[in-house]
Amino acid sequence: MSDWNFPTAIKFGNGRISELPDLCQTLNIQRPLIVTDSGLVHFSFIKKIEHALPSADIFYDIKANPNGQNITDGVAAFKQGKHDGIIAIGGGSALDAGKAIALMVWQTKSIWQFEDVGDNWKLVDDNNLVPCIAIPTTAGTGSEVGRAAVIVNEESQSKKIIFHPSMMPSFVILDPELSQALPAPITAATGLDAFVHNFEAFCAPGYHPMADGIALQGMKLIKDWLPEAYHNGRNLEARGHMLTASMMGATAFQKGLGACHALAHPLGALYDKHHGLLNAILLPYVVHANASVIEDKLQTICHYLDLPKSRLDSSFQQVFLTWLLDFRRELDIPARLGDIGIHTDDAIARQHAIGELAVVDPSAAGNPIPFTAKQYLTLFQQAVAGDLPT
Ligand SMILES: [Zn+2]
Repeated sequence: MSDWNFPTAIKFGNGRISELPDLCQTLNIQRPLIVTDSGLVHFSFIKKIEHALPSADIFYDIKANPNGQNITDGVAAFKQGKHDGIIAIGGGSALDAGKAIALMVWQTKSIWQFEDVGDNWKLVDDNNLVPCIAIPTTAGTGSEVGRAAVIVNEESQSKKIIFHPSMMPSFVILDPELSQALPAPITAATGLDAFVHNFEAFCAPGYHPMADGIALQGMKLIKDWLPEAYHNGRNLEARGHMLTASMMGATAFQKGLGACHALAHPLGALYDKHHGLLNAILLPYVVHANASVIEDKLQTICHYLDLPKSRLDSSFQQVFLTWLLDFRRELDIPARLGDIGIHTDDAIARQHAIGELAVVDPSAAGNPIPFTAKQYLTLFQQAVAGDLPT
């Protein structure tokens, strides 16, 4: 059990969910709106929370990739129930939706005006922001310590990053017991998303030793504990380390993300596929495409993660990729986008220039090499076909 005050107030440990009523009191929340995933509504811990907070209502009309309408509906539920705070509990979708609802309750402008571009966040009227407590039940997005929410704009069919510094939740509860029931495939996909956050943050250019240190340790925790969390979900020690590593990833990626996320965002919005799974499939291709400029970073990662060098003349790219492909196989992640029903010649790919969408994604700015739309298209084609150059 630990209390941390960085990057926000965090209560870590088994059973810490029982402190939720006290935290509401601290924030002067009398009538919270619980925002959660529809799949969690019948879980016993949600029932217990409802019992402990009798004045709370629950809102769960949220898509796997939450969209603008979900946020509008959540704001309406908040006002109708005369609520005064948000408890966001669940996976990244519920946390992002909860944070976005808290931001939007008293705004007069459209949510799309607060997209994370330039100084748009200064347009937010921050006089009456609603307090938010975030409780993750998956270990992946780290949204509980993020100052942004990813929301799908239905009109443009694209994922928009909505940002304001005050979107950082006031309290976070990291209770490993809440993630015990997470099914193995989601444990693997979300855990690898957290790995990619740490990896892309570490490889993003720029001087940010704080983020680099967090990212390295985050990757190590995932290497050491994700297989155990995957094979033995009841292991609370493994679940606890994974929740922590996920939070570390989101803390580190203030430094930047990269090509993996630049492709995963449009693919997720167009094909409605799991964000973590997309990143898990894409990562080796992106590592290979960036290899010429990240060999020194891969060397640091290989040393810190203590990865085995099978041949003395192996490059660090080879050492890292050999380990990554084995690690991914152990977690039963498919090798190709083609394995999850994404093809370069399907209707969606023909209608949308995937490369053009990736190159304008905000995550593209953090990639070590500024890829062109054509290079992103090649990456996409390789990942569909499973064509990993050696
Ligand atoms: Zn991600």
